[in-house]
Amino acid sequence: MTKQRTFSIIKPDATERNLTGKINAKFEEQGLRIVAQKRLRMSRLQAKEFYIVHKDRPFYDELVEYMVSGPVIVQVLEGENAMLKNREIMGATDPKKADKGTIRAEFGVDIGSNSVHGSDSLENAATEISFFFSGLEIVG
Ligand code: ADP
Ligand code: MG
Repeated sequence: MTKQRTFSIIKPDATERNLTGKINAKFEEQGLRIVAQKRLRMSRLQAKEFYIVHKDRPFYDELVEYMVSGPVIVQVLEGENAMLKNREIMGATDPKKADKGTIRAEFGVDIGSNSVHGSDSLENAATEISFFFSGLEIVG
C-alpha cells in the first residue's frame, strides 16, 4: 500500500461551534496525518469555482452562500488509502444517514451544514489540493 493525499474542509457550521479540534482528532485517531492546514474565509468566486461540478444542482447557490458564511479550515490529509478512508471517517452526506461515530453523524446539523468536505476521487483530490495549497505548504 502506498500513501495517498486527500483534500478536506472543515466547514463554517463546525468552525462556528468550535469543533475543529474534535474533528481533527477523528482524522488523527484513525490514522490520517494533517500535512497542511489553514484557516481562511472563502470568497464567493472561490466557492463557486470550487463547487463548479455542482453548478446545475438545485442546491448550488445555497451551498456557495453557506461556504462563504464563515471561516473554514482547508486541509491536506495523508495516509494509507487516505481518500476513501477520509470518506469513511466523514460519513454520508446527510448526517441522519451517516454511520454512528462518523464526523457527520456526531457533528453535522443537516444535509447542507454537514461539517466537512472530502474529495471523492484521487483525481479530484489532486485538483482540490492545488486549488488551495502550493507544494511548499504541504509538509509530510
Ligand atoms: P459530499 O459532500 O458528501 O461529497 P455532494 O458532493 O453530493 O456530497 O454535495 C456537496 C455538498 O453540497 C454537501 O456536502 C452539502 O454541503 C451540499 N448538499 C448536498 N446535497 C444537498 C441538498 N440536497 N441540499 C442542500 N445542500 C446539499
Ligand atoms: Mg462531493
